[in-house]
Amino acid sequence: MLIPCPVCGLRDSGEFTTGGDASIVRPAFDDGDEAAWAAAVYDRSNPLGAHEEYWHHVHGCRHWLIVARDTQTHAVFGARLAGAWAGYQSGAPSDKPGPD
Ligand SMILES: [Zn+2]
Repeated sequence: MLIPCPVCGLRDSGEFTTGGDASIVRPAFDDGDEAAWAAAVYDRSNPLGAHEEYWHHVHGCRHWLIVARDTQTHAVFGARLAGAWAGYQSGAPSDKPGPD
């Protein structure tokens, strides 16, 4: 499977580690609701088909990505940066984010 890293370009998935479901909404850090935390940590849906997941480019730029892919066919539809660089799409080389 090839993943289009917005920083490094098209790379083999072996350069990445998975970070799980990107659709999970975690409670605020000061939220003491144990049931909400248990659901955020343990409840997973294991969807079949189009899905967004976190992937870490651990053997590349070390950025976290949100990768859209089909969990049945492994077709990758696209990837974007997660976190502080989430708005980055493309641009001049000087606009590219460096390693963290
Ligand atoms: Zn990368």
